[in-house]
Amino acid sequence: MRKKIVAGNWKMNKTVHEGIELAKIINRQAEENDVIVILCPPFPHLTEVAGTITKDSLFTGAQNCASEASGAYTGEVSAEMIHSAGAEYVIIGHSERRTYFNETDETLNKKVKLALANDLTPIFCCGEVLAERQAGKHMQIVKSQLEKGLFDLSPEDFGRIVIAYEPVWAIGTGVTATAEQAQEMHKMIREHIAEKYRNAVAGNTSILYGGSCKPSNAKELFSNPDVDGGLIGGASLSAADFIGIVNAF
Ligand code: PEP
Repeated sequence: MRKKIVAGNWKMNKTVHEGIELAKIINRQAEENDVIVILCPPFPHLTEVAGTITKDSLFTGAQNCASEASGAYTGEVSAEMIHSAGAEYVIIGHSERRTYFNETDETLNKKVKLALANDLTPIFCCGEVLAERQAGKHMQIVKSQLEKGLFDLSPEDFGRIVIAYEPVWAIGTGVTATAEQAQEMHKMIREHIAEKYRNAVAGNTSILYGGSCKPSNAKELFSNPDVDGGLIGGASLSAADFIGIVNAF
């Protein structure tokens, strides 16, 4: 059975103190139901945010991990360190990492494998830029990102992946994909997974939508048959907005 998931990507926002305060409010207000809620603060916050959480439906995730296991890589944070800090998830391949830090499909594939080897669930991001959608290439781009980033995994390992479809033109822009656009892409992603693996694997894969998701549009997006939740950026910085999105299920 695939899971309903709402993950908050805090990006490079909030001091440790502010982050703990936000996590405390979300921990207090989140209802214990079948929606998995994941808080993805910056690295310095991880241990304390993980320690703040007391509800069984709440988890912590990192926003990135290194593509090497350990060693002389100044400034990097390994998957093993993230796991030891109390996190259970890690976002891999966010468009901001692909664009500003030149992360390639090959690098992301290495990160996915290190995350899995260290008992972290990767939240693997994919999505097209506006020019690619306007050129009618969005399906092809997302298929290629999935194939290069994930499709050499065993069915067992693939079964541990969460996918986040995030059209780059919708991230932080206030322009949300329509429910139809999201459903069309999520259905294609699920069918592509089924072609590579099995129907059962595809049916069990949670596919999240990300891109200007807010309390006002979450219900419509989440009511689509292939949309299993959201990866939330801006709206995850406000407890009221984030909880509003979680409660949209
Ligand atoms: C994101 O960065 O993953 C994201 C979805 O951002 P926003 O919700 O702000 O568009």
